[in-house]
Amino acid sequence: MFWVIHILLGMVIGLEFHSAWLIIPIALLSHFILDYIPHWDGFFDKELFQETGFAKITKRDFMVKLIDFSFMILITLYFYSMYIEGGMIVNKNYLILGAFMALLPDLVKIGYFTRLKKRKTFKKYLHFHSRIQRDINWKKGLIIQAILLIILLLYLNRLI
Ligand SMILES: [Zn+2]
Repeated sequence: MFWVIHILLGMVIGLEFHSAWLIIPIALLSHFILDYIPHWDGFFDKELFQETGFAKITKRDFMVKLIDFSFMILITLYFYSMYIEGGMIVNKNYLILGAFMALLPDLVKIGYFTRLKKRKTFKKYLHFHSRIQRDINWKKGLIIQAILLIILLLYLNRLI
């Protein structure tokens, strides 16, 4: 699932649960639940990875991730500032904590480019994370992601 959707749901969790002890596990769990919803994740060759353990990152896959990353930063900044200027009283640390924990299972994957790659538990984790993804053709996947995105944006803007 796109990073931007993970962090938006993380922010909702950060807003609704007013305790780090709740936000951390719930936001983490939300990551895997979202990944389990059928979606389209760019051009990453999942089969190749599952068979060989080799992650081949192509230019187009990198571009999808870069766009996703840029949106994620913009949206985080938007809500971070909105919740000050709008006079809405929320604990912004919780907002960021929720977003961070909701993204963490994907951030951990960066370990693939370090020595962590050789660790057995780390490899197991990567395979687990890869296997729970529910892929679907890109059109349907994008529609599902767009619907989720709209609901989360409306919710965080306090419109629903
Ligand atoms: Zn993920």
